[in-house]
Order: sequence, then C-alpha cells, then structure tokens
Amino acid sequence: MNDSGVLTYLLQQSQKHLQFGTWQINSSMDNFFISDELSAMFHLDKSQSYSIEVLGEVIYEDDLNAILELFEKAASLGAPFDSTFRSELNGELKYFSIFTDVEYKDGKVSFLYGFIQDISEYAIEEEKREKLLQLTEDYIIISQTNLKGEITYASQAFANICGYSKSELIGNMHNIIRHPDMQSDVFKELWETISSGNTWEGEVKNLKKDGGYYWVYSYITPLKNHKDKIIGYQSVRQDITDKKYIEKISITDGLTLLYNRRHFNTVLAKEINYSRRTNDRLIFAMLDIDNFKKYNDTYGHQKGDSVLVDVAHALVNSFKRSHDMVFRLGGEEFGILFSLKDGDDIFSLVDKARQNIQDLNIAHKLNGAGVITASFGVIEIKSDYTKKVEEEMKLAYKEADQFLYEAKARGRNIVCVKPD
Ligand code: GH3
Ligand code: MG
Ligand code: MG
Repeated sequence: MNDSGVLTYLLQQSQKHLQFGTWQINSSMDNFFISDELSAMFHLDKSQSYSIEVLGEVIYEDDLNAILELFEKAASLGAPFDSTFRSELNGELKYFSIFTDVEYKDGKVSFLYGFIQDISEYAIEEEKREKLLQLTEDYIIISQTNLKGEITYASQAFANICGYSKSELIGNMHNIIRHPDMQSDVFKELWETISSGNTWEGEVKNLKKDGGYYWVYSYITPLKNHKDKIIGYQSVRQDITDKKYIEKISITDGLTLLYNRRHFNTVLAKEINYSRRTNDRLIFAMLDIDNFKKYNDTYGHQKGDSVLVDVAHALVNSFKRSHDMVFRLGGEEFGILFSLKDGDDIFSLVDKARQNIQDLNIAHKLNGAGVITASFGVIEIKSDYTKKVEEEMKLAYKEADQFLYEAKARGRNIVCVKPD
C-alpha cells in the first residue's frame, strides 16, 4: 500500500470504529457521495446516485427542514455548519451529529463535505442525565449558600415547599426560613459541625412564606473549592412533615392535647440520663383529680371530659418554663417534669399549680372544697448510678404515687413532697 492507500484504509477503519461516515455533495446538490460507513448506517445503496432529497428518507421529520436549510445556506452563502438530527432506523430513534465544511473553486462554492456521527449512546445518556437533573430540581429540596449565608442556589422543590419563588430565595439570607420554634442550640451545633468541614444531619422545622411551617430531615455539607477551602454550604432535605404529624399524634393525648403516657416514658428516660450527666435536679410531680368519679356521676361524663381539658390548661399555665413538661398519664392522672433552678422551692412551685386548679372554680358539690381540686405527690429523682434507667423510672413512678396517696389520705387538695 502506498501512503494515500494507508490513509484511506485508516479513514475507513476509524469510520467503522467511531461510527461516523463521510459525505460530499456538489453545490447544485444533485450528487450526494457517501462513504461505506454512511451507506451501512442509513441502509442506502452506494451504487445509486442520490440528490439532497435522500435526506428525507434518512432524517426524522421534525428535524428535516432545519437541516435542509443549513445545507441550502452552506451551498448558497458558503456557511459551514455543525448540527444534530435524529433518524428512525429499524424503528429505533438514533441521534447524529453532522459537521460540514465548504470547498471553493474560482471564488464560488464548488462542493460541501463533512461527516455524520452516530452519537445516540452519548445523547441518550445526556437525555437521561437531563431528566434526572429535572427530577432532582422538581422533587429534591436543595439549597446552597455562600459563607455569608446568602442563598446561591434553590431547587424548584425548595421553592415549592417554602412558598417563596426561586428569585425571592436567591440572594436572600437562608435564615428567612428559620422557624422561631427551633432552639438556637441546634443551630449552634449545626454551625460548629459544618464550619469545621463535616456534614450535619437532623430534623429541622422551617418557616413558610405564609407563616406556616414544614419539617425536613436535612443533610448539610460544606462546599469546597479545589484547594479544599470551604466556600459555602449545601443542604439536601427530605420532607418529613407528615411523619412529624403522625409522630406528634402518637405522643399526644387526644382529649387534652398534652403529651401522653408513652411520651412520658420516653422523656423520663432521657431526662434521667441528662440529669446524670449534668447533675440537674429533676422533679416529678404526679396529680390526680379529687373525687372525680363522683363528678362524673353528678354532672355527666362529658362535663367530666371538659374538666380534664381545663385542668390540663391550668397545669400548662402553671409550668411555663421552656423545659417544663406536662403529661396526661391516664384517666384523671397527670404528670409534670421540671428541673429545679437555684432559689426554687419545690413545694411552692407545685402548690401554685394546685391553687390554679382550685381557682378554675368548677363547681363540684360532692368534693370537700365545693369545686374541682387535685392532690399531688412530688419527688426529686436523685440519680443512682448503680441502677438501670428503667429501674429508676419504675421507682420514681412508685414513689410519686405513694406521696400522692398520702395527699389523698391527708384530706385531698394537698401537695405532698417527699422530704430530703
Ligand atoms: P380520688 O379522689 O380518690 O382520686 O377519687 P376518684 O373518684 O377521682 O378516683 P377513682 O380512681 O375512683 O375514679 C377515677 C374516675 O375518673 C373514674 C372515671 O369515671 C374517671 N375518668 C377516668 N378517665 C376519664 C375520662 O377520660 N373522662 C371522664 N369524664 N372521666 C374519666
Ligand atoms: Mg385516679
Ligand atoms: Mg381521682
């Protein structure tokens, strides 16, 4: 083989391997020359002479006019082009790129030539990638911020859930969606984690534009440049509003809307562990409405229910510090967990609640005070490290119940505190 033979051979081989074919057409576009590879690709007979019309057999209807126009311009104005088109081959949609150049003779276009390459694999991948990106954009709640906390990217899903448009979000501070219910120590921990280069994850309650809220599980990661320097943060979140709603129902008493017994058990275990770590003084008060059976018998069960709701309100209004928690433990029994601050007196704190119930002034003629009252048993849970938390919980319950029993025995409407 001579040099040009080698080149021709190499061109043929590379056409096969790279799935591209060359073509050439004269300026009057009635003589289309195509390479073996192209004739094989488009099932065209090489021995036949084709005009530009042959493209109508090859190119997908929707793309044909655009390509014909480009050919037209190339032939008349000498403008080369670079484009893509689709073909339906054996019932399958294929993607091609077409590249042309123009050859001149005596200052006039003499012929056009170029190649066509099958880019289906790449194009299909690209289409999949775009669909995936679109899905991400539409369904995944993503935002990015710079170091100042200004939003630099917001997905459509993020805009949808918080009610701000993307343009309202971008450039704004990320804390416009911060909900006042979120405790600042959560954000402190979050910032410490991400600013030291780590990922923070956790549940966050966010504020909507309309003042409503939504819950998300967030993964917040630092964005780094090529020198590993943090340049911003990205948050990817999952909407857990429904889950939080169900969770809330499962820990809420349906009548009084206080926390229920199940949640009491969870919280008590946590609080015992916490007080073991911090030496906080944890107080448990248990109370029971006096002569409530007689109330129901006299005034009816429905009135009885509304008393339970009123007593619940009186308790919540008596224990308003951020860590105080009030529970309905069952029937007409309630529980309060709170920690003691310097200068607090256990008896007066709890007796205030007892007084507040009496001050509701709900008539109960068969009860000693003539109105609804309750009796209280109160203990300080002193952590005993030799005991398991579950044992300690059982003991706390038993002891508080004992002092409640004592309050009943001593005449009711009384607070009995376990002595030190
Ligand atoms: P004591 O002063 O000794 O506590 O007397 P008591 O009558 O309150 O105690 P007892 O345990 O005998 O009765 C509790 C009553 O509480 C029985 C039941 O009728 C009433 N009760 C329990 N749960 C509910 C409730 O959800 N709604 C209403 N209306 N009554 C309830
Ligand atoms: Mg009872
Ligand atoms: Mg009772």
